[in-house]
Amino acid sequence: MQEYLDATTNEASGDDIAGIPLPESFRAAFVRKEDIGMFEGKESWEKDPRESLHIGDVATPELAPDEVYVAVMASSINFNTVWTSIFEPLPTFGFLERLGREGEWGKRHDLDYHIVGSDASGVVVKTGSAVRNWKPGDHIVAHCNHVDDQDPAAHDDSMKAANQRIWGFETNFGGLADLAVVKANQLMPKPAHLSWEEAAVNALCASTSYRMLVSNNAAPMKQGDNVLIWGATGGLGGYATQLVLNGGGTPIGVVSSPEKAELLNEMGCHAVIDRKAEAYQFWADEHNQDEGEWRRFGKRIRELVGEDPDIIFEHPGRQTMGASVFAVKRGGVVVTCAATSGYMIEYDNRHLWMKLKRIVSSHFANYAEAYAMNRLIDRGQIHPILSGVFALEETGEAALQVHKNLHEGKLGVLCLAPEEGMGITDPEKRERIGEENITRFLTHQRKLEAAR
Ligand code: NAP
Repeated sequence: MQEYLDATTNEASGDDIAGIPLPESFRAAFVRKEDIGMFEGKESWEKDPRESLHIGDVATPELAPDEVYVAVMASSINFNTVWTSIFEPLPTFGFLERLGREGEWGKRHDLDYHIVGSDASGVVVKTGSAVRNWKPGDHIVAHCNHVDDQDPAAHDDSMKAANQRIWGFETNFGGLADLAVVKANQLMPKPAHLSWEEAAVNALCASTSYRMLVSNNAAPMKQGDNVLIWGATGGLGGYATQLVLNGGGTPIGVVSSPEKAELLNEMGCHAVIDRKAEAYQFWADEHNQDEGEWRRFGKRIRELVGEDPDIIFEHPGRQTMGASVFAVKRGGVVVTCAATSGYMIEYDNRHLWMKLKRIVSSHFANYAEAYAMNRLIDRGQIHPILSGVFALEETGEAALQVHKNLHEGKLGVLCLAPEEGMGITDPEKRERIGEENITRFLTHQRKLEAAR
C-alpha cells in the first residue's frame, strides 16, 4: 500500500499506478462475528466501540466488473459505524449474509468480519472491466449508496431500489481501511481545494442533508423558509445549517452547549436554542409527553424568528418527534431520516392532521443528489465540517466520541495519508474559497482544546 501512497504523492501517471501490484492483504477496521454477544446485558451508552472495533490485516477480495479498488487516503466516522460497533439495533452480519445470497459477487461480502466505514477519499488504483468513466490515478470521494443497476426500481430513484444498501454498513469492504472496494457509480471527483481528510468527511452526511432539504424527494426548502435543525453542529446538522443559509432560508439551530451555540453564530446562524441550558423535558416520564414543554419550545422559536418553522429537520427521534410535530407550522413539514434516541415514536396526531402538517421520510441520497451536493462543496458554497482527525488505529476512540456526543461536526480518520493537510492539488482555489471557511470547525475545536 505504501507504493500507492508514494505514487500518489509523487503525482505518478495513472498507468504507473495501475502497474503497482495489488497487495494480498491490507489494513482495515472491522468488527468480528464472534463478538456479537460481547455487550450483552449492557445499556447502549455503556457499550464501548474501542472493545469491538479491531484494526488488522484482511485478505484483498476479488473485484467485480463494475467496481474499482480505491487506495483510501482518509475516511470518517459516521453514526452507522457506532451502530455496527455496538451491534445495535441489529448486528450488521445479517445484512452481509443477505447480500451473500444475492449472487456470485455478493458472496464475497459474507465473511466473519465486517470492514466498516461509509466515507472515503482516495485514489482509484484498478478498475473492473465494465468501468468506463474512471481510471487509475483519479482522485475521488465515494458516496455510500450501493445499488445494483439491474434492478428496474433503481432507475427512478435508486434509493427506492429493493437491493439498495449503505456501503460499509450493509456491505463489507468499507472505507475505514487502506483499500476499499467501491462500485463505479459511487465515485465522485474529489474537490481539489481540500485535503484528503477534509474531502473524506462530507459525502454521507452532506448528501443526506441535501436530499432532506434541497431535493424534490423530501422537503425542498424555499428562499425565506424557517428551518429548525436539531443537532445543528452535528454531522447532519452542520451541513443542514449551511444548506439553509446557502438557499436563502433562516436556520434555527438547536444545540446543547454554549460552545456549539458560538460555532453556529460564527457560521451565520443567529437563531440558536441551547436545549440543555433551556432544559426542555418533552417526556414527563417514560410513557407521557409534556405538552407544556412543547408549547414552551414553540414559543421560544417564535421569539427568535417571529414565526413557526416551515420545516423541521428531524433525526433524534423518540426524544424530540412529539415536539417537532407540535412546533412545525400549519401545513409545514417534519423531515426525518433517523431516530438516535429511539425509533418507536409518539406524537399527538391531532396536531398533525388538523393543522395539515406532513411527516416526510428521507434516507441517504441517490447518485444524482450526492453528485449535486459534491458539486456545491467543489464550488466552495458548502464547506467540510471536519473538527478532529484520528489515525486508523484510533477508529474505536473516534467512534466512542461520536457515540457519546463529545464531538462537533465530523471526525476524520487518516488511512494511507500519513499526516493532515495532504492531497490539496489546487491551492489557489483554496485561497479563493478561504481557509477560515474550510477549517471553521477544526479551528473552533482546537481553540476550545487550547483553552482547556
Ligand atoms: P451526530 O454527529 O452525533 O449529530 C447528531 C446531533 O444530534 C448531536 O450533535 C446532538 O446535538 C443532537 N442530538 C443527539 N441526541 C439528541 C437528543 N436526544 N435530543 C436532541 N438532540 C440530540 O450524528 P449525525 O451524523 O448527525 O447522525 C444523526 C443520526 O442520523 C444518527 O442516528 C445517524 O445514524 C442518522 N443518519 C441517518 C442517515 C440516513 O441516511 N438515513 C444519514 C446520516 C445519519 P446537540 O447535543 O448539540 O443538541
